[in-house]
Amino acid sequence: FAINMDQLELQDELGKGAYGTVKRVLHRPTKVAMAMKEIRLELDESKLNAILMELDILHRAVHPSIVEFYGAFFIETCVYYCMEFMDAGSLDKLYGVGVPEDVLARIVASMVRGLKFLKDDLQIIHRDVKPTNVLVNMKGQVKLCDFGVSGQLEKSLAKTNIGCQSYMAPERIKGESQNALSTYTVSSDVWSVGLATIEIGLGAYPYPPETYSNVFAQLQAIVHGDPPVLPAKYTETACDWVSKCLVKRPEGRASYAELLEHPFLVNDAGNTVDMAAWVSRAVAWRDKQREKERQAVLAKEAPPP
Ligand code: ATP
Ligand code: MG
Repeated sequence: FAINMDQLELQDELGKGAYGTVKRVLHRPTKVAMAMKEIRLELDESKLNAILMELDILHRAVHPSIVEFYGAFFIETCVYYCMEFMDAGSLDKLYGVGVPEDVLARIVASMVRGLKFLKDDLQIIHRDVKPTNVLVNMKGQVKLCDFGVSGQLEKSLAKTNIGCQSYMAPERIKGESQNALSTYTVSSDVWSVGLATIEIGLGAYPYPPETYSNVFAQLQAIVHGDPPVLPAKYTETACDWVSKCLVKRPEGRASYAELLEHPFLVNDAGNTVDMAAWVSRAVAWRDKQREKERQAVLAKEAPPP
């Protein structure tokens, strides 16, 4: 059945991205909590139905490592996209100063399994792998969202800014002006997986804006510099795994199958990791940081006499 706006009770805002806002909503007929993403499009109504048709493939993207899709609809020139609500939010807010190695292995194992499923079963390349698109729930599950299924939607996005953190592989950065589509293969996503892994382990984006005077210099470092590595506290096995993703030549990168067969993830499968316990700690830490930030803003607005 199809979802529409009249069935939804709007609740709090979960976050904002480059293309729109994500809100928590309650689907009244089923009492299911959902996340609804509003995507503003560059006006071209003839394309709207093509987009809805392309999005339909998402109903087949059912996998434990993929955020479930419930449906999409339009109002004027906005697409509203309803998906599973992940109650611990995105990973970028949860990794703190870097996660323990067993947790890191669990997270990346889930990411790679999700990406392999999209590729093998649906012939989908994600194209936007990064920590904000890795969502977590209090059960300790880790799932991917925001993969590129609709070429038409991509073309119609009202692009506002390119963002200051690039997860693009070197060949994409180099090839952007010529033919971005043909240079994008599944191995470009493998690079992004490697970069996201470093960020989750390091507790920070590995090419920090403080180090580079501008975005150009930052992209130069990705293309011409040595790939980043995990901090020394991680084992040789973990470091080796990441290095198999962050190979500058796309042909040299590992495949998803190889990444899953690597000792880092084979060992993970035999471990018991209390992901739910890690998520509760991470959420408690995040909420404490948020409260501190809120207090700091309040203090600035109304300085003590
Ligand atoms: P970009 O626009 O560059 O892709 P982004 O991924 O942060 O960045 P959005 O996809 O619009 O932007 O998401 C905004 C925020 O909303 C996310 O960072 C995440 O914290 C939150 N969010 C998105 N989807 C969900 C969901 N299904 N459940 C819970 N929180 C979500
Ligand atoms: Mg996103």
